[in-house]
Amino acid sequence: MKLAARVGEVTPSLTLAIAATAKAMKAEGIDVCSFSAGEPDFDTPAHIKAAAAKALEAGKTKYGPVAGEPQLRAAIAKKLQTDNGLNYAAENVLVTNGGKHSLYNLMMVLLNPGDEVIIPAPYWLSYPEMVRLADAVPVILPTTEETGYKITPDQLRSACTSKTRLLVLNSPSNPTGMVYSPAEIRAIAEVVVEKDILVVSDEIYEKLLYDGAEHVSIGSFGPEIFARTLISNGFAKAYSMTGWRLGYLAGPLEIIKAANTLQSHSTSNICTFAQYGAIAALESSQDCVEEMRTAFADRRRFILDRLAAIPGLTCPKPDGAFYVFPNISKSGLKSLEFCKQLLENQQVAAIPGIAFGADDCIRLSYATDMATIEKGIDRLDKFMRQYI
Ligand code: PMP
Ligand code: GLU
Repeated sequence: MKLAARVGEVTPSLTLAIAATAKAMKAEGIDVCSFSAGEPDFDTPAHIKAAAAKALEAGKTKYGPVAGEPQLRAAIAKKLQTDNGLNYAAENVLVTNGGKHSLYNLMMVLLNPGDEVIIPAPYWLSYPEMVRLADAVPVILPTTEETGYKITPDQLRSACTSKTRLLVLNSPSNPTGMVYSPAEIRAIAEVVVEKDILVVSDEIYEKLLYDGAEHVSIGSFGPEIFARTLISNGFAKAYSMTGWRLGYLAGPLEIIKAANTLQSHSTSNICTFAQYGAIAALESSQDCVEEMRTAFADRRRFILDRLAAIPGLTCPKPDGAFYVFPNISKSGLKSLEFCKQLLENQQVAAIPGIAFGADDCIRLSYATDMATIEKGIDRLDKFMRQYI
């Protein structure tokens, strides 16, 4: 069968694939410790589920406006104003099928063949693939553990060409958990303005910060950068709503309108009654977010202490998200082989760093219960000692 060239160049999501393998092994009764998917293990908070159930009962079961329920768009605009200092109106917000879909919509409406998109590595694995699906060119900017996995303004400046259209910024980061400081974000904003490119800030982990780290939205540094900023965010991580598929894109009207048109021919509106859960998430107390963050903070401390005691592993301290990204190069294995053997021999599921552009590392998600973390790290320790 002859398929479109565009899908030939794209690989399936390895995070989803490994998470599915781990789940299938568990279903077969195998005692797997999964550090694979970036998916909170908590149930969605009860008041959010109740609001969606109420909407379902009340007949919110019909097609709605493509861009989202007006009340939700307004609640998101208010959130962006209050939490992030971004002055968007409801019309600047498009409700999408998760953060993934908001980014995909953006790439599709913004990019022409040959346009370049700058992506700092390690990166979330879907960014380059989405850029390729839009027939554009991902330009990967490498970073190292020594620089905290952050790009410098000079590095960004020299990567810009006449074809550069967009920078993808993800802080807190998946997979490293690194968080840019406000001063670092400001310095990047200055280059974005100077080079007159756009930036999409993927802020899906903004609420998951530790040890006093601060999140600041790049668009908040003044009108020039605001005009060049897109925000991608969603409900999956902060509210444990991964399966609800609710995210949003916010930005200049022209782009949001184009994405709305695209969405009108692809997905239409996001599940109508689910959107009422999202409204409740934003308009109710944020205590549930803090409760989950506190649990993640405890697990982070625990996993970092345990990893530090494993010979041959080094692991920088992440300030955000729910990932650690240890360097496994002393094992002598590349990340795919490391993860394959770790799963086969110790029944521990981790994501090979190569999926994120960093073959010396593996990603462990600690969005799982403490007992699994404890057992899984014991096994990882045993596994690593074979090579040291
Ligand atoms: N951005 C990043 C950095 C992510 O890690 C993810 C997935 N966990 C997403 C976007 C998309 O999330 P979702 O589509 O589930 O809202
Ligand atoms: N983004 C999450 C992760 O990195 C979920 C899987 C995916 O959508 O890729 O694990």
